Amino acid sequence: MSCVFCRIVAGELPAERVFESERVLAFRDIRPAAPVHVLVVPKAHVESLFELDDRELAGELLLGAAEVARLQGLDRGFRLIANTRHDGGQEVGHIHLHVVGGRRLGPMLAR
Ligand code: 5GP
Ligand code: ZN
Repeated sequence: MSCVFCRIVAGELPAERVFESERVLAFRDIRPAAPVHVLVVPKAHVESLFELDDRELAGELLLGAAEVARLQGLDRGFRLIANTRHDGGQEVGHIHLHVVGGRRLGPMLAR
């Protein structure tokens, strides 16, 4: 299995897990961009948001992100990011939502 996030889901690679539901896992980003930086992924491999067509899984991912924000105490706010495919800057080809917070974030887009 070559997908790094599939390997984390399988327990083959270590990760600091912060939340898990039936079909979703959340773990800390290895290179955090903010005090809280958690990735929310489906346990089953889906390439990107462009390929996502499972409404229940979409809901579980989004609610997983909201639960991560609550668990991490991000009541002041946070940002949810889904980098998608090449132009979106997606580096890992397994869909993931970034939950980023714990400080006031800057402008959204780098040009
Ligand atoms: P992308 O650019 O695809 O939206 O973001 C991929 C994210 O995955 C990056 O923020 C990167 O730091 C994170 N990442 C890449 N490899 C690993 C890993 O092996 N473990 C963890 N926890 N995060 C990773
Ligand atoms: Zn995968």
